[in-house]
Amino acid sequence: MTAPLKLSGYSVWQLMELDACTRCGECVAWCPTFAENSHELTHPLGKIARLTSWLRRRHGLRARLCGPRPIADGELAEFAAGVYSCTLCARCREVCPVHIDTRPLWMAMREQLAAAGHYPPALATLRQNVTARYNTAGEDNANRLSWSQNLPSGSAGLAGRRAEVVYFVGCVSAFYPLAYPIPQSLVQVLHKAGVDLTTLGGEEWCCGFPLMVAGLGAEATALARHNVAAVRATGAKTLVATCPSCYHTWQHDYPRLLGEPLGFAVRHATELLAGLVDSGQLKLGPYGVGAVREPPLLTYHDPCDLGRTSGIYEAPRRVLQAIPGVRFTEMRDNRALALCCGGGGDVEMGDAELTAAVARRRLAQAQETGAEVIVSACQQCKRTLTATARREKARLRVLDVTEVVWGAMQGV
Ligand code: SF4
Ligand code: SF4
Repeated sequence: MTAPLKLSGYSVWQLMELDACTRCGECVAWCPTFAENSHELTHPLGKIARLTSWLRRRHGLRARLCGPRPIADGELAEFAAGVYSCTLCARCREVCPVHIDTRPLWMAMREQLAAAGHYPPALATLRQNVTARYNTAGEDNANRLSWSQNLPSGSAGLAGRRAEVVYFVGCVSAFYPLAYPIPQSLVQVLHKAGVDLTTLGGEEWCCGFPLMVAGLGAEATALARHNVAAVRATGAKTLVATCPSCYHTWQHDYPRLLGEPLGFAVRHATELLAGLVDSGQLKLGPYGVGAVREPPLLTYHDPCDLGRTSGIYEAPRRVLQAIPGVRFTEMRDNRALALCCGGGGDVEMGDAELTAAVARRRLAQAQETGAEVIVSACQQCKRTLTATARREKARLRVLDVTEVVWGAMQGV
């Protein structure tokens, strides 16, 4: 067994990064999953040290003179358990003094492990769902607009037509009822702001991100080709996503996978909303003010794929702070050092308890501030934090920015 030891599985830059790790251990204290599972092959230093020692074992001078020593299947399985426990939150990259770009490194490890069959069984189901049904849930893809059934106008005009803006809803918001309020809110907000909007309906296919982070990204290019052609057919000048991972995939991965520019702009919903606030198209009133009480105290949770990996920190804060009379506070760890919600990296599919434990930590930080509402800009953060708040019986609501904005537009 050679995975994950093929040198060709890593770029020259990544091999230099492996060599550049000073073993300082700074990243260890910041790794949210290691803090919960204490698996030494989860944290960055552990993964890098194990991989470099294996690379030496197979490609070093002694290996050339005496032949490479084999890596036992059990060792690989243990390594895979650590690598697939990582939420790919990229927090380690922010604190690494030699600036190792960690997330692509963890993804390269996963690709090699997956190629050798060392990946959690749940990810095989994920692959089957996405390649056969075009969504992560394994549902009939024609039901992608189920969330629109409760809207006053239903799904009328929401698909199959040309428009200025196309909304890429994403699998979680399309198929998990807990997330339905996100697309419901965004569509109503944009309609009220006068934005000409459509969706791809059943022609929307999974963006491919869940497969790429699983190390199973071979099919991602076919998904990209289909989705880009579907958006071009709408004539849209802008694609908007509420899911930070879809956003990141469209903005950064699709042009690379297709080898050409998309021909339209890609915006996260919070960027679009911030622009509408600036132009005066979005009229906001007070949020959550009852007859006898002041507005609730809000805090904002940075989704990893919106903040650290896409660099969007201020747009959601600008939108929230544009609400008249809003009360807002920051958590101890915010922006580039924000703690993950535990929902990334496909970890939940293999180890739901680990996801819940990381989410509990983040929830505790929100509670420390005295906030009554934790606002995020990601359907997966909403799912994980809501489930944890319910389990912990925390007096804290979890909402998406789109829901808060729609709430602030009532009566305006
Ligand atoms: S990406 Fe996040 S979970 Fe993964 S090793 Fe780095 S800090 Fe830990
Ligand atoms: S912080 Fe960077 S240099 Fe230090 S042990 Fe972690 S990966 Fe290596």
